Amino acid sequence: MPGDAVGTEEEFIGGSGTYMEGEQIRASASGELNDKDRALSVSRRNMLASVKPGTIVLGRVENVVEPIALISVLPQQEGNIRFAMLPDNCVLHASRIKDGFVKNVRDELRIGDIVRAKIAEVRNGEIHVSTEGAEFGVIKAFCIKCRHALTLVGGSLSCPECGNKENRKLASDYRNVNI
Ligand SMILES: [Zn+2]
Repeated sequence: MPGDAVGTEEEFIGGSGTYMEGEQIRASASGELNDKDRALSVSRRNMLASVKPGTIVLGRVENVVEPIALISVLPQQEGNIRFAMLPDNCVLHASRIKDGFVKNVRDELRIGDIVRAKIAEVRNGEIHVSTEGAEFGVIKAFCIKCRHALTLVGGSLSCPECGNKENRKLASDYRNVNI
């Protein structure tokens, strides 16, 4: 079960489905414990069962294939270490980006952006996330022309390097976050 101590770093190497706490290796998911070649892992089989709707995650936009964005969950996140080893990309559908109609994901999110999202549901083996609500959305964005981090000036995003103006579904604390 998540949080259970399954071994120590002296004896084993922590594999997928585990996380380190000091020298202790703990399970980050519920599932079967395997110890192959000294590498401890918790099998993914039941991993999705431990993914709880409502959990807040930080992720990076890995790809945009209209009408969805694929989000990888980052190991550094706010409060919940259980998703540190989440193996799959999460799905963010255009309809879950913000209140109101989103025609193109690319109008609201771009590859490389860092987002705060909430687990909406687990369906057909896919983890669906949402960025609806003021606290959710892009917390760091990068210029699509020169990749420089965008700054928020007077309510609009612009690139301090090349002056490009861009649009995102922003979280209310854009760039006040340490990541
Ligand atoms: Zn730029």
